[in-house]
Amino acid sequence: MSELRWHPILEEWVVTATHRQDRTFLPPADYCPLCPTLPGGIPTEIPTSDYQFVVLENKFPSFQRVPPPPAVTGDELYKVMPAEGICEVILYSPDHNSALADRPVTDFVRLIRVWTERYRELANNPQIAYVFIFENRGEAIGVTLTHPHGQIYAFPFIPPKIQRELDAALHYHERTGACLFCAIVRKEQIAASRIVAEGSSWLACVPFFARYPYETHLLSKIHRESLLDLTPIEVRDLAWLLKVTLSKFDRLWQVPLPFMMVMHQAPTDGLKRPGVHLHIEFYPPMRTRDKLKYLAGCESGAGTFINDALPEEKAAELRAIPV
Ligand SMILES: [Zn+2]
Ligand SMILES: [Zn+2]
Ligand SMILES: [Zn+2]
Repeated sequence: MSELRWHPILEEWVVTATHRQDRTFLPPADYCPLCPTLPGGIPTEIPTSDYQFVVLENKFPSFQRVPPPPAVTGDELYKVMPAEGICEVILYSPDHNSALADRPVTDFVRLIRVWTERYRELANNPQIAYVFIFENRGEAIGVTLTHPHGQIYAFPFIPPKIQRELDAALHYHERTGACLFCAIVRKEQIAASRIVAEGSSWLACVPFFARYPYETHLLSKIHRESLLDLTPIEVRDLAWLLKVTLSKFDRLWQVPLPFMMVMHQAPTDGLKRPGVHLHIEFYPPMRTRDKLKYLAGCESGAGTFINDALPEEKAAELRAIPV
């Protein structure tokens, strides 16, 4: 069962996806449904180990191409919609224990090409208003399958956090005639103290306004709206910066750092908006190696984050890690 229920107080959709309760929860490594099927072994979702990156449809999707009708009848205040959309999984490797950070930059280039092709194809689907590329990594944030993978949710609407960013970019553009994200890139370059790593066309920083201690943003230094706009050189720069960022995360405490990675870029609803600027945000949920940053009362109930670390100090810590 999967449906969209309107939250009339926050004016946003909630996905009710009860079938996801049955999904596989942290199976032992020899039962991983995302590992290639072994000769004589239990069949998995993957018949071959002959690939570098592969895209599958999610077996427990929050959105479906042909969703079932909602379980309840909606009305004007309590609107209900079928959860129409597409959910995909990108496997990073047939090897269950491989770490993306250890792979060559050319593999990251391949991954960016996969993202770009999925973005292009899903964007052509008239049902889809937003192609959201992301990764949840680590048990700390509730990952149910530890096999290295990322995800794509193709939304039938623009999700509210992204809409807020688009609104902020529009307001900035109306005030100044310029791009908000290009302005942020310049501010971070001038300050320099929050930069984690920098290539010729991309930079990584713990932004001035970080909400998590190790929150890291990767920003295109050139105004680009989506993956489709990147030149081959810019793809390579981003690939290098992704590898550097992941390597620093993994070396921070010598254990893979849990994180959420989210990519923000142009919506695919056909409308042109000023100030849309491709970027990637990482939110590691840790304060220290052993202490989780909980989204507690103030964050969850008031919407105000309390970051008990200085972005300048955390950026310096990440910047100093050799890769
Ligand atoms: Zn696996
Ligand atoms: Zn820009
Ligand atoms: Zn963003």
